[in-house]
Amino acid sequence: MPYLIVIVLIILLISLIITYWPIALALAVALAIPRVVRYIRKRRYFSSDLFLAHKSEIASVVAEHNDIATYARALRSSGGLMLGATATGAQAHLASFENTSHHNYRRDRNVAAYADGNVHNCSLQVVRNAAADPLKYLCKYFEIKPTEAALEAVEDLGETVSRLEEAVNNLSAREQAIATDFNPPAFILKHYRQEFMAQVGVDLAPITVPYPEYRFEYVSAGGNSAQRTTVTLNTETIDALVEYLSTKIKFLKSAAGQRALMTATLRNSIKVRDNFTCQQCAISTTDEPHLLLEVDHILPVSRGGLSTVENLQTLCWRCNRTKSNKLLGTQP
Ligand SMILES: [Zn+2]
Repeated sequence: MPYLIVIVLIILLISLIITYWPIALALAVALAIPRVVRYIRKRRYFSSDLFLAHKSEIASVVAEHNDIATYARALRSSGGLMLGATATGAQAHLASFENTSHHNYRRDRNVAAYADGNVHNCSLQVVRNAAADPLKYLCKYFEIKPTEAALEAVEDLGETVSRLEEAVNNLSAREQAIATDFNPPAFILKHYRQEFMAQVGVDLAPITVPYPEYRFEYVSAGGNSAQRTTVTLNTETIDALVEYLSTKIKFLKSAAGQRALMTATLRNSIKVRDNFTCQQCAISTTDEPHLLLEVDHILPVSRGGLSTVENLQTLCWRCNRTKSNKLLGTQP
């Protein structure tokens, strides 16, 4: 019976096409014309003298952008974006709690996230406690011990994350500035933004920072109920963790407590103190609004340098990269 209906419908459709195909064709052509015209206009624009002249004018701006994109990619893949811990067994806004249950869920023991070192599979109670007290549970279940070494590792992670965050924000500001300065016809930016950037030669940058995530997961025995708490190590969480660990190890009373804690607040205060000026080449944000500045340890931590305000300085990303390449003995 259903087959009959389908056959009748098909016959009906075919007869409609036979009768009205000229109208359908005209409609399709009418709809396609604006797109074809736009495509031709775009092709003409990208090969126009105006476009090519402007492109060569801003070549150095684009080159600088692409250098920073390469730098950001190197930072991203430097492997520094993780704490050394693996799972073994009052700051509620730092964690996100989700009910990840699905109806008729079937737990697949082979595919589940067990192999992932940043996932702790635990009881529902632990998932809930972790949401309420994320730093305590993060330290407890991912073995971040209250030691001077762990504190330094967390501070180190904070520096990498903030450098990457700033580089990514810097790149998107530069991309915006390139588009504004170039000022192509509106339809280009509206319909062909990606292609415009590629034609100008902009190497589109990583747009996200891969923040380390630590998860507490509960899946009921039957698999129907699942809940998860995620602690994302963004700058805010890392700074809170730095404060938490330093309190735990009574850092302020220790000998090393003479140094400052390396947090976003301290980094900003160094930039303000140095008047947003590179202490090496003297370039500043007044000279170059999109200048990417970083805070550097004059004597590196690896050589016993402390995070004291006297040992910290503002460097532009170029000078900082040159300095770390020299320290590592690699070519820039
Ligand atoms: Zn510099």
